[in-house]
Amino acid sequence: MMNWKDVLNFADNGTPLPDKTVVKSEAEWQALLSPEVFHITRLKGTERPHSSELCNLFSSGIYSCACCQTELFDSSGKFESGTGWPSFTEPIKSNAVAYSADNSHGMRRVEALCNTCGAHLGHVFPDGPAPSGLRFCINALALRKTS
Ligand code: FE
Repeated sequence: MMNWKDVLNFADNGTPLPDKTVVKSEAEWQALLSPEVFHITRLKGTERPHSSELCNLFSSGIYSCACCQTELFDSSGKFESGTGWPSFTEPIKSNAVAYSADNSHGMRRVEALCNTCGAHLGHVFPDGPAPSGLRFCINALALRKTS
C-alpha cells in the first residue's frame, strides 16, 4: 500500500508507467467533454465543495476517469473527509494515478492526475486515515462511477 513517502517520490522522480496512454488534443477533449468536465480535467479547475452528490455516495463500485474511463479508485477506499469533495485513501492500482508537484496559489501541494490521459483529478494530502495515511481529494466531475 502506498504512503506519503511514495507520493513524494513519485512526484519528484516520476510515476510508474501506466498500462496504456490516451493522447488527445485540447480541441479533441473539448469536443468530447461537457464544458464543466473539460474545465476541471483539462484546465485544472476545481469544482465548488459540496457541489456533488458523489461526496455522500458510498455504495460499492468503481470510480473511473471521466475523460478516458480508466479505473482509478474503488469504493472500498472512499471515506467521508468532510471537505465537500469525494475522498479516497488509495488508488485502485499504484500506476493508475500520476503525481506532480503543484506550487500554485502559494501552496506546496501534490496534484493527482489520471496516469492514462493526464486528466487533472485533484490533490493528495498526508492527512488521510490509516493505514495509507493518504487523502486523495478528487473533483467529482473528474470521475464516473460504475458498479
Ligand atoms: Fe483519464
